[in-house]
Amino acid sequence: MTHTRTVLVIGGGTAGNGLAVLLRKAGIDVDLVEAKADWNVHGSGITTQGNALRVLREIGVWEEVEKLGFGFDALGITAPDGTVLHVDAHHRTGGPDLPSVVGMQRADLQRILIDAVRRSGARVRLGTTVQQLEQDASGVDVTFSDGTTGRYDLVVAADGLHSATRAMIGISERPEPVGMGIWRVCAPRPASVERTDLAYGGPCYIAGYCPTGPDSLYAYLVEPQRDRANLDPDTFGEEMRRLAEPYGGAWDEIRASITDPKKVNYTVFTRHLVEGSWHRGRVVLVGDAAHSCPPTLAQGAAMSLEDALVLAELLAGHDDWNDELLTAYYERRIPRVRLVVDGAVQICRWQLDGVRDADVPGLIGRTMTMLTELP
Ligand SMILES: Cc1cc2nc3c(=O)[nH]c(=O)nc-3n(C[C@H](O)[C@H](O)[C@H](O)COP(=O)(O)OP(=O)(O)OC[C@H]3O[C@@H](n4cnc5c(N)ncnc54)[C@H](O)[C@@H]3O)c2cc1C
Repeated sequence: MTHTRTVLVIGGGTAGNGLAVLLRKAGIDVDLVEAKADWNVHGSGITTQGNALRVLREIGVWEEVEKLGFGFDALGITAPDGTVLHVDAHHRTGGPDLPSVVGMQRADLQRILIDAVRRSGARVRLGTTVQQLEQDASGVDVTFSDGTTGRYDLVVAADGLHSATRAMIGISERPEPVGMGIWRVCAPRPASVERTDLAYGGPCYIAGYCPTGPDSLYAYLVEPQRDRANLDPDTFGEEMRRLAEPYGGAWDEIRASITDPKKVNYTVFTRHLVEGSWHRGRVVLVGDAAHSCPPTLAQGAAMSLEDALVLAELLAGHDDWNDELLTAYYERRIPRVRLVVDGAVQICRWQLDGVRDADVPGLIGRTMTMLTELP
């Protein structure tokens, strides 16, 4: 190797931040550009499962995650009235020394990753996007939105679900709705909530919550997709309270705390999986830019972090960043990501089709067993 290799990471979400830190650890020069001036420090809660925690430990932030989040090892299934039907021991997909799940506030996870990126020495530019990419056999010339330019050995598109970079390199796959929408809110944690509980069989497809810290949780209700054009954000609080009305147990306290419509978020579920390869020349996709799925297995961010880990490992271990290496990245990731995307969509399908005797626990069990293997 004759020069320090350079990577441009486009997008500072879970995948981009994680990748930037892992590449810096390998001595690779990293520039990161993020469209949002506030670096996206907001959002609802997130369920980070063991296999995501395993990557966060590699990134070097496990202690902070453990401190700010809420770890647990079981999943409860309840009736809509809150009666606990059964409690399953959750798989420890990150290995025996990590909890099955740590629930977190998304803003906390983002802040932890941002601090790690800052410490890593990656050069960060906020409020910046890429306008043009031109590549040849040895590198990529980039023109940024502020008119500046740069040349990199590799460009990584970590710009999420609606990746502009994906379109720029001619990949046409994009997220498609699966027919469901989710209402989410962050709320105070009732003392009784110490794990995720899911209620199936009520008026919503799923009603659930996940503790995210000593004093907080996030709660969600999944229902048929609505037309966003007909939704008025000022009514989000009352709409979520109305949808939560038939649910009992911890939901009584959660419902009463939904007072600020600005704290309620509505999102639709999507699915996409880029097939064949995740790169064109020296531009490669990670995370939601390459794949998305409904959060019915709570694995999207976990898959994004695993993408970052595998790509960083391959780039650090090889001098020649060629087509073969980037194809090897895709081939190593695709079976695992496909399993998650197909499984997550299958759970939605069963619910949309009203299949009452679907083996959801069996599907989750098989998936989590496979995800326990190293990526
Ligand atoms: C309702 C819902 C619930 C979910 N729950 C979970 C869960 O519990 N557990 C889990 O593991 N996963 C969950 N996920 C999935 C998870 O949120 C995503 O898979 C994960 O955030 C993807 O990370 P990413 O870095 O690829 O994309 P993102 O986190 O979206 O980051 C992309 C970044 O790129 C920036 N960007 C966009 N365009 C540009 C541009 N042109 N130039 C520069 N920057 C740009 C954005 O501002 C953003 O900061 C959920 C998803 C949804 C929709």
